[in-house]
Amino acid sequence: MYFGEMDISQKTKKALKERGFELATDVQEKAIYPAMQGDVIVQARTGSGKTLSFLIPVFEGISGEGNEALILVPTRELAQQVEREAREIAKEHRVRTVAIYGGVSMEPQIKGLPASIIVGTPGRIMDLMRRGYLDLSNLKFLILDEADRMLDMGFIDDIRWIISRTNRARRTLMYSATMPEEIIRLAKRYMRNPRKILLSSDSVSPEKIEQYYVEVNDRTKYSTLKMLINSEPGKYLIFCNTRLGVKALANKLERDGYRAKELHGDMTQGSRTRVMESYRQGMIDILVATDVASRGIDVKGITHVVNYDVPRFPKDYVHRIGRTGRLNSDGRAVTLTKGNEMLYLQRIEGFMGLKLKKLTFRENRFEEVRDYRDSADAFGMIKVNFSLLHEMGEWEVIKEAGKYGISEEDIGMMELSGKQGVMHIHYAQVSKLLDIPMFSEVKIAVGEDKEHRAS
Ligand code: ADP
Ligand code: MG
Repeated sequence: MYFGEMDISQKTKKALKERGFELATDVQEKAIYPAMQGDVIVQARTGSGKTLSFLIPVFEGISGEGNEALILVPTRELAQQVEREAREIAKEHRVRTVAIYGGVSMEPQIKGLPASIIVGTPGRIMDLMRRGYLDLSNLKFLILDEADRMLDMGFIDDIRWIISRTNRARRTLMYSATMPEEIIRLAKRYMRNPRKILLSSDSVSPEKIEQYYVEVNDRTKYSTLKMLINSEPGKYLIFCNTRLGVKALANKLERDGYRAKELHGDMTQGSRTRVMESYRQGMIDILVATDVASRGIDVKGITHVVNYDVPRFPKDYVHRIGRTGRLNSDGRAVTLTKGNEMLYLQRIEGFMGLKLKKLTFRENRFEEVRDYRDSADAFGMIKVNFSLLHEMGEWEVIKEAGKYGISEEDIGMMELSGKQGVMHIHYAQVSKLLDIPMFSEVKIAVGEDKEHRAS
């Protein structure tokens, strides 16, 4: 549906048109009218356009008085981002908006009050309320954006505190990428007969994002990353699991001449904002970040999300890769995986309900290689029939394979008769066989009796 055809004000339509938004996204089409009529809980994946799906009903429902709508968000970056989006529409309606978040001076924020639309993080909002700068007793709309993240980050008590000091006649709208039990409980307690609008859960439309993993070890991890960046130049968002990891990697990249910067919670709000701005504007190509610092970041044109460390929790993976492939841009997600991290990768795959494709670096570029995990037995072994160019003994075959990075332990039973042979080999090593010239043919047993031929 086109915004132009919707039953909303001309002012809103004009602002949307100026922003270049014509067609409503799925969640906007389904959630805007219900949110204009009553309480709603909306679940839709990251990047689906939830922000406008609450901003539009808010603009349709306010009159320009002070403190009419409060939008609670989990992070400072998100507060800035959502407020920026609101400000665009507010220009037409001639109402005031303000972003309220911690880590910066309160003064300018206090000066911004009262505003019709307040976008803020729970901590600073509470602060201003306690100090008497913010009164929510006439609130018409309370919006909880990224409700699941806010609960994850431990804001539940703050949220309850704030809600208990708002107008009871207010409308409450809740938006979330996922719907855990606690959210339902929160909704029961604070919402009135909410309409539930549940779209696809946050599995980040896998069809849009190509998801890969590359096997690395401590020695090859950094060089593999550099090979990726060099062979596929683009706009990179790289995640590490710790702040220390982020700092170390960003430093290394900078030293090696890349336009890279770090983003993590140890930085002042000012420097976080500056880094985000230069990334947004393309002054840097690589942003190295922690999970928390990156939440809700919406930067256009990210081509690669790289998990330099495999995230320990599947939902972090979902949020990380949600940063690429936002709406129309195609993206690629690459997870560098060490042998002992395979377990985490498998959990992620289970959670997402899909398999990551394996990439290997060959002839100056990263190529997808067949991953034989599905065909492996309980020990991870796969049966391979092969023909040798020349007759040789078992030990010679093993030694030769060793030169191509296949260790002895990865090869199980082997039988040779003349140039023909059979071996059991670990699935992760199978593709390496194809590069070894001593074989004239390699037949990999996949499934019951199907064979995958390569020569
Ligand atoms: P979510 O909150 O669901 O993760 P956002 O509201 O942040 O998603 O929207 C993701 C991106 O899509 C933003 O860059 C936003 O400007 C853009 N966007 C939202 N709605 C539309 C639309 N109707 N047409 C084009 N782009 C849109
Ligand atoms: Mg959002």
